[in-house]
Amino acid sequence: MIDTTILAHDIVIVGAGLAGLRAAIAAKENGIQDVAVVSKVHPLRSHSGAAQGGIAAALGNTVPDKENNPVASQDGGQDSIDLHFADTVKGSDWLGDQDAIEVLVSEAPSILYEYEHWGCVFSRLDDGRIAQRWFGGHSQPRACYAADWTGHVLLQTLYQQAERHGVKFYPECEVTSLVVRDRVCRGVIAWELATGRLIALRARAVMFGTGGYGRAFRITSNATANTGDGLALAYRAGVPLEDMEFVQFHPTGLYPSGILMSEAARGEGGYLINDAGERFMSKYAPSKMELGPRDLVSRSIQQEINEGRGIGGGEYVHLDLRHLGAAKIKERLPQVRQLGIDFVGVDCIEAPIPIQPTAHYSMGGIPTDLDGQVILDADKTPLVGFFAAGECACVSVHGANRLGTNSLLEATLFGRRAGRAMAAFVQTASLPGWPADALSEARAEIEALLARQRGERSLDIANTLRAEMTKNVGLFREKAGLEAALKVIAECRERFARVSLDDKHPVFNTDLMAAIELGHILEFAELVTVGALARQESRGSHFRTDFPKRDDANWLKHTLVYRTDRGPELRFKPVVITKSPPQERKY
Ligand SMILES: Cc1cc2nc3c(=O)[nH]c(=O)nc-3n(C[C@H](O)[C@H](O)[C@H](O)COP(=O)(O)OP(=O)(O)OC[C@H]3O[C@@H](n4cnc5c(N)ncnc54)[C@H](O)[C@@H]3O)c2cc1C
Repeated sequence: MIDTTILAHDIVIVGAGLAGLRAAIAAKENGIQDVAVVSKVHPLRSHSGAAQGGIAAALGNTVPDKENNPVASQDGGQDSIDLHFADTVKGSDWLGDQDAIEVLVSEAPSILYEYEHWGCVFSRLDDGRIAQRWFGGHSQPRACYAADWTGHVLLQTLYQQAERHGVKFYPECEVTSLVVRDRVCRGVIAWELATGRLIALRARAVMFGTGGYGRAFRITSNATANTGDGLALAYRAGVPLEDMEFVQFHPTGLYPSGILMSEAARGEGGYLINDAGERFMSKYAPSKMELGPRDLVSRSIQQEINEGRGIGGGEYVHLDLRHLGAAKIKERLPQVRQLGIDFVGVDCIEAPIPIQPTAHYSMGGIPTDLDGQVILDADKTPLVGFFAAGECACVSVHGANRLGTNSLLEATLFGRRAGRAMAAFVQTASLPGWPADALSEARAEIEALLARQRGERSLDIANTLRAEMTKNVGLFREKAGLEAALKVIAECRERFARVSLDDKHPVFNTDLMAAIELGHILEFAELVTVGALARQESRGSHFRTDFPKRDDANWLKHTLVYRTDRGPELRFKPVVITKSPPQERKY
């Protein structure tokens, strides 16, 4: 029998990445004493810490010189909030909500200076200002960075501040349900790995900052913890999910694992080369070359591979950094170099790195308003007491395609806004009632899993599912492939109903953890596929070979997928367009 306990806090935040931590700090700054953060990994192992390349803000600290290298600006630079806005809208293929993008770009500088005042160790110009470099799809050198350890230093900075404020942490506790009754959020249930007990965490306000879901794919840059739990739990609790068909594939994953080789490598001047030794991006994005937006560069690489111009006719092309020289590589890209040495035995100072596109980022997610309040429809009906921010949320600043460096920014900035909104909300909200059956149901589910003697192994199901997602719901999609994927997902779900574990003990049971997470992936993989099948156009990261053009007349709208007894049901929501009407997207 699994032990259970019931605890309560004013605010419970699930996720200790940049979104969760910044929200917790904001709630504390705004006078809320009792703030708890739950994380299934130690906070400092959240995927935010793996981010390499940079965080965007139009500071204008650098300008391009004649060779397009960023150098210190003398007079405030050429960058502006308006340019950051225009780049982000264009990057989103006009599917991003422009009111949200306005907030993102105008509050960005304040986020950077806040990090700086908290002692974050950015790379600097000689005069002491924060250095900025190029990144894909940005028209100015705008990425603030700390070598290629940017996420690591940001996460350390926020964790220190959260500790300073006395935030209560529940590390290595996996949330297994979001408890909602009568459209009011009541709290969550978490499984504590070290003791095996289930903890009900009641709260006046709950926030999800649970991150992305790259682990639904065979080839991914994402940490093993990125299994999209928050999305599945919210969906099961009656929240629709927005724009799930938009999955970003990063151009440069290490071959064959998919581990990220940061876009900073191309930002610093790296080339992409095919088997014939050509810089093939000249065919696809002549003005931006390797620094086109990610959707375009990824498809170009895959097309080279598909048409037999991968290296030696194989499944990868080369990322060539040799011309940058040892000194620059060691100063600006130490992690990229080390990952190449450790994982494929290639030192990029001496040889090109084998790369392929890799599943990287989820543009879609839990729909929210500009303050992180979760909303249930186009009329912005709130789910009372439930907030979301960061990669699991969809306030829709990225639309159909995210620009690199806008995500660390989004997670911090909308985390801060959600934290403030929750602080205001709990000033007046009382602790909602707790349903008597919630904890016993959660316990019964886990006990049933542990008790099943024979059945399917979750890893086998996961491997089948991930291979199918990469094959048919990846970079290039078409009707027959998507229908085949839906069939495979349904079969996997059937098999999952018979899943049994090798380890039957509730304490530190990683087998159990993997099975719970696979259940989540199976839930939303279907939604990604349903959205991709419905959207009969190509926009941003979503490319249909049978509908290769963008279709604004029919598809300039967000999808919302709802859980019903008949299965997932799609509805739609208009895109917010304020000052940039849709145009053709050319680079
Ligand atoms: C390799 C890599 C490099 C990247 N580089 C950049 C970059 O240079 N610039 C940029 O802007 N973006 C980058 N990104 C994207 C960016 O890092 C993420 O989108 C962002 O950090 C997400 O932050 P988050 O706070 O939303 O979630 P995360 O940092 O992913 O944190 C999620 C948190 O949720 C917790 N959690 C999840 N499920 C549960 C559960 N069931 N129970 C309890 N806790 C749970 C986890 O423990 C974790 O603490 C990169 C991404 C990757 C994978």
